[in-house]
Amino acid sequence: MLGLMQDWPLLISKIIDHAGLYHANRKVISRSVEGPIVETTYAAIRRNALRVAKRLEKDGIGLGDRVGTVAWNTWRHLEVWYGITGIGAVYHTLNPRLFPEQIAWIANHAEDRMMFIDLTFVPLLEKLQDKLPTVERYIVLTDGAHMPQTSLRNAVAYEDWLNEVDDDFAWKSFDENTAAGMCYTSGTTGNPKGVVYSHRSNILHSLIANGPDMLGLAARDTILPVVPMFHANGWSLAFTAPMAGTTMVMPGPKMDGASIYELLNTYKVTHSAAVPTVWLMLLQHLEQNGLKLPHLRKTIIGGSACPRAVTQTFRDVYDVEVLHAWGMTELSPIGTVCSMKPEVADLTGDAWLDIKETTGHPPFGVEMKIVDDSKRELARDGKAFGRLVVRGPSIAAAYFKNEGGEILDEDGFFDTGDVASIDPNGYMRIVDRSKDVIKSGGEWISSIDLENLAVGHPDVAEAAVIGIAHPKWDERPLLIVVPKAGRTPTRDGLLAFMEGKIAKWWMPDDVVVVPEIPHTATGKIQKTALRDQFKAYRFP
Ligand code: ADP
Repeated sequence: MLGLMQDWPLLISKIIDHAGLYHANRKVISRSVEGPIVETTYAAIRRNALRVAKRLEKDGIGLGDRVGTVAWNTWRHLEVWYGITGIGAVYHTLNPRLFPEQIAWIANHAEDRMMFIDLTFVPLLEKLQDKLPTVERYIVLTDGAHMPQTSLRNAVAYEDWLNEVDDDFAWKSFDENTAAGMCYTSGTTGNPKGVVYSHRSNILHSLIANGPDMLGLAARDTILPVVPMFHANGWSLAFTAPMAGTTMVMPGPKMDGASIYELLNTYKVTHSAAVPTVWLMLLQHLEQNGLKLPHLRKTIIGGSACPRAVTQTFRDVYDVEVLHAWGMTELSPIGTVCSMKPEVADLTGDAWLDIKETTGHPPFGVEMKIVDDSKRELARDGKAFGRLVVRGPSIAAAYFKNEGGEILDEDGFFDTGDVASIDPNGYMRIVDRSKDVIKSGGEWISSIDLENLAVGHPDVAEAAVIGIAHPKWDERPLLIVVPKAGRTPTRDGLLAFMEGKIAKWWMPDDVVVVPEIPHTATGKIQKTALRDQFKAYRFP
C-alpha cells in the first residue's frame, strides 16, 4: 500500500520561492567586488534568478549542462546558483585559489559550457581561455559601467546580459534526483574528483544541517558565511539560510580580520561559518585592537581541526559558542557538529573543552562507524580508533564520470580517509587523515592533537606537525611553528609547555620556527608541501 501524500519533487527552486514569498524583504547584504556594500532582498534575488534562468535558455543552456562559476560570496553568485538550477542545469563552482592548470583541468573534465566570473578573475581566465575549449561564453559579474575591456570569448557584463529579459518565467520541473551542482575535491593525491549534488541531496542536506543541534538558523538571525561558495558546496549555506529566511551578509572578496569584523559589527551578525585560519586572523585583529563581538552568538568552525585555544578564547573573551564541525565535499558537506547533548551539557572548564574539541555527533541522515583494516566495526568507547566510514542520502555514491571507480562498500559506506574514534555518547574525534598520522614504533600519533596543543602557546600563531623518517621508530613528530607578530617562541619553551599534556612518547623530537606554513586552496595546512620542504631534514 502506498501513502496518499502529494508527490512534490524536492527542487531547489522551491527554496527561493519560499524565501521570496515568506521572507520577501529579508536582506542579503554584500561587499561587492567593485567596492561598495550592496543591499538586496530575497524577493529581488528570486526575480533575478528567474531572469538568469530565462536568459540562460536564450543562450541554449538546459537540463544537465554544466555552468562554471569563479566567484566570491555575493548576491549575484546566489542569483546565478538559483537561476542555473531552476532550469535543471548544474552550477559548478571552481576554486580560484587552485593552480591555473588545475582550474583548467577541472573545467575541462566538467565540460563547462558557460562561466560566470567575478571582475577579480578576468585576467586569470583571459590567460586560461585557450585551454578551455568547451566554454562558449563568459559572463562577468558586474554592470556595464564597470565592465573592463577583455578578450574573453563572447564576454558580456552580467547586468547587461540580464537586462535583455524580464522575470516572466516558470521554473522547470524535473526529477528531484537531477544533478544540481558540482564541486571538485582538492585531490591531494591524483586528479581532483567531481562530486555531483542532486536537488534532493541539497534539500535534504539543508534541512539536516539546520536542526537546533546543528546550525539552528531562524528568520530573526543574521549569518555571515565567510566560507566561500566554492568550498565544499559552500557548506550549503546558500540553501540553508534562504530556507530559514535568515538575513545573509556576504563578504565578497575581503576575508581579512578587519573586513570581517566590520561586517560582523555593522550588521549585528549572529551566526558565522569559516575554516580555523580565518578565525585565527579575526582573533588576532580583535586582540590587537581591543575589540569585542557583542552580537555574534555562534560560529561553525570546520574544514580542519579547530584548536582548543580558539574555542576557549571565543567563549571566555567574546562569549561566542564555537560549533566545531567535521565534513567533506563528498558529504554536501556536514558530517558532524559539536553541540552539547544532555549527557555533557553540565560539564564545565577543561571537561567542557574536552568535548568541544571533538568534532561532535552526526545529525539524523548521517550514519557513521569506525572500522579496522579488515572492515570490522570497532568499539564506540572513545578509545579505539580506525577508519571512519559514512553513509546517508546527501553523501556521494560515485564521482563524476566514475573517476576512482566504486567508492562504496557492500553496505553502502563511503571511506572518508580519516582516522577517528567515537565515544559512548556518539561524539566523534578526528585523530588524523590516514595519510598524515605519524607512525612511531608501530603506534599512531595524531598530528592534529599536537598542533592543537602547540597553538595554545601564547607565542604561536600557527602550528603543523609532520612525521620525519627515523631509523629506530619508523617516524617521529617534528613540530613546525609560525610565531605571533613580535614573539619569539623557542624549542625548549614549547616542549616544556607541552610536557605533561600528552603521552611522553608523543613529544615532538624537535621544533622548527618558520615565517609561514603553506596552505591548500581551502585554507588547510598543506602537509604534502611541508613534507617536501622538510624532505632533507634529520633530527639533531
Ligand atoms: P578540501 O581538501 O578540498 O577542503 P574537503 O573539505 O572535502 O576537501 O576536506 C575534507 C577533509 O577535511 C576531511 O576528510 C578531514 O580530513 C578534514 N576535516 C574537515 N573538518 C575537520 C575537522 N573539524 N577536524 C579535522 N579535520 C577536518
